[in-house]
Amino acid sequence: MASDHNNPYHVAISQVRLVGEILGLDGGMIELLSRPKRELTVNFPVPMDDGTIKIFTGYRVQHNSVRGPCKGGMRYHPEVTLDEIRALAMWMTWKCATVDIPYGGAKGGVICDPKKMSSGELERLTRRYVSELMPLIGPHTDIPGPDMYTDAQTMSWFMDTYSMNVGHSMPSIVTGKPISLGGSKGRDEATSRGLMYCVREAMDVSDIKRKEATVAIQGFGNVGWNAARLLKDELGLTIIALSDSSGGITKLSGLDPVSVHEHKRRTGSVQDYPGATNITNEELLETQCTVLVPAAMENAITSENADNIDALILAEGANGPSTLRADKILAEKGTLVIPDILCNAGGVTVSYFEWVQNLQFLYWSNVEIRERLNEIMTYAFSKVYTTAESKDVDMRTAAYLLSINEVVQATKLRGIYP
Ligand code: GLU
Repeated sequence: MASDHNNPYHVAISQVRLVGEILGLDGGMIELLSRPKRELTVNFPVPMDDGTIKIFTGYRVQHNSVRGPCKGGMRYHPEVTLDEIRALAMWMTWKCATVDIPYGGAKGGVICDPKKMSSGELERLTRRYVSELMPLIGPHTDIPGPDMYTDAQTMSWFMDTYSMNVGHSMPSIVTGKPISLGGSKGRDEATSRGLMYCVREAMDVSDIKRKEATVAIQGFGNVGWNAARLLKDELGLTIIALSDSSGGITKLSGLDPVSVHEHKRRTGSVQDYPGATNITNEELLETQCTVLVPAAMENAITSENADNIDALILAEGANGPSTLRADKILAEKGTLVIPDILCNAGGVTVSYFEWVQNLQFLYWSNVEIRERLNEIMTYAFSKVYTTAESKDVDMRTAAYLLSINEVVQATKLRGIYP
């Protein structure tokens, strides 16, 4: 039986091996797909507000660029590790192939605690980190974007630093920028909008009535909060539980995400929301509901709690929220898992739209963005779902079969250089 790895890179490698065997890939190909193409570790100084100098460690990992330039976000978090970034870079490769956008995968991260840093410190950290990455990144080689605890302001500093270094404005170096700097309409909610389209499709194929459907969401950052809003407003689902890193709340008659968001802005947490009952994050994950959305960190669902998951559909807003063992348990229980590399691919898809718009200096309307995203997500969902049905495998295995096969075919067509 597969083990409950907590190291996301080990999970990622095991997934490739499992699927590689089903696809009948030879050992060399599996090894090639399991390892990142390039990795950079940087240790760099940042002057802090109190006059001291602090040394930070950052990474950029490029997993694969066979199908196009490397693409992936960068996260600022105290628990960033090189292995985590390797896994996330690999998942970007499969994600881009799943939704068929012409990118390879990359990821970056800096070990830091952005919640404890001033805006000035974050700006200096970002500018120095970008400068250290200069040899690796470029609008046709590796295009960073947002991820945990990085936002449109971070991307603005990123774009400015790169542009100042090359001597002219280069919006296409990074995505997730504010609209006034060449950002795309709809990028801020794109991951959640893509997730919402996947949930819509999953409910349709499962014959679940929207009026009767309830939702629990773990995490109230960009993905969790926008998912709550869109699942309620656009699909009419009832949001019965929400949480952030300090804990959760539940209310069976339904929560109003906008009002909870305002409460969190005022008090710093979703907890103690008037009319709701406080619960722990563990309780949130075990809430009886139609759709459970893990939208926080990796390893939220493990062999410890998978048995207690009481949802018909698991919509993975986070990257790598389920371990291999959890996956097996969920498959046995018959939970319909919409895997991360499909479910949260709306973010990188609209990042791709942003990059295309930047390269063409031609901008699209909100309506065009939504239509194109809807089309891509709906098609990808149906491809993965049909493959799962026809091959009698779960949706994650189906998404891996399709995406790894895409990368393998591209690798074979290009041939091994020299
Ligand atoms: N952080 C996003 C993800 O995990 C993608 C970032 C980007 O747009 O490059 O899919």
